[in-house]
Amino acid sequence: MSVKIAKNSGFCFGVKRAIKLALAASQKYNNAVTLGPIIHNPQMVNKLQKNGIEYVNNLEEIKNRPTIIRSHGVTREVLNELQKMDIDIIDATCPYVSKTQVYAKELHERGYQVIIMGDKNHPEVIALRSYVDGGTIIAATPDELPAKKFLKAAIISQTTRNITDFQNMVSALVPRCGELLVVNTICNATSIRQKSTLKLAKESDLMIVVGGKNSSNTKMLAKICDKFIETYHIETEAEIDTNWFENKQKIGITAGASTPDWIILGVYNKILKCLGKEEQQVESVELIPGFKEE
Ligand code: SF4
Repeated sequence: MSVKIAKNSGFCFGVKRAIKLALAASQKYNNAVTLGPIIHNPQMVNKLQKNGIEYVNNLEEIKNRPTIIRSHGVTREVLNELQKMDIDIIDATCPYVSKTQVYAKELHERGYQVIIMGDKNHPEVIALRSYVDGGTIIAATPDELPAKKFLKAAIISQTTRNITDFQNMVSALVPRCGELLVVNTICNATSIRQKSTLKLAKESDLMIVVGGKNSSNTKMLAKICDKFIETYHIETEAEIDTNWFENKQKIGITAGASTPDWIILGVYNKILKCLGKEEQQVESVELIPGFKEE
């Protein structure tokens, strides 16, 4: 019986950077807030609250306090409003997300109909569309594309989507466009994590996907695994049911880009406990089999 973790599981560059900026802000100020949850992980957001970083849902709740912009970014209008306030702004927008915003703006200025592959209700996409003065088209799948032809269109993606879905979207657009410009804005951290997760899912009898239920990239990992094998998406070890492991020999674990190490570790050790292998418990994610294996 084996329990392995997909390599590249857990915090990505953008999330590490956002948390570091938030913790530095908590040292510098005693009243900093984040506008919306800094990352899509409720347990990490709670931990930051314990470090004195509250999160607010709108501009009115800021009340002149130093404000951290979360990793998904904010709309151009919100950024303008923040800049008008007499407050310190700590911009923790992931640089890859910012780059996608720049692409959206430039493509529109060059006369392309901008098409975004993504979830129209996700904060990253809501912010992204605000950088295009004309209308954007947002579609999660080819079925959601409008039934019309485009003289000149450009497609970009929410950073955490899947490359195969993006290729399918491009294929659906090619026959409908006079000119189609494709900019792959799916971030590398996302693609690598999805690949290693897929590899482990194919080798496992059961996959446990760890991360916020509101986390887009974690939900995508669960979707990828679910195509191959029995999969459970959990936020913490508390959701684990011992019955899941009956007659299973190879258990795989993967975790989203916003899932902290201590949660992954708790899940791994709880699985070992369920399997009656408590003596193999470890004290850091690096020691979980598979973490950095090639
Ligand atoms: S998944 Fe990629 S784009 Fe999103 S925060 Fe992490 S590094 Fe940035």
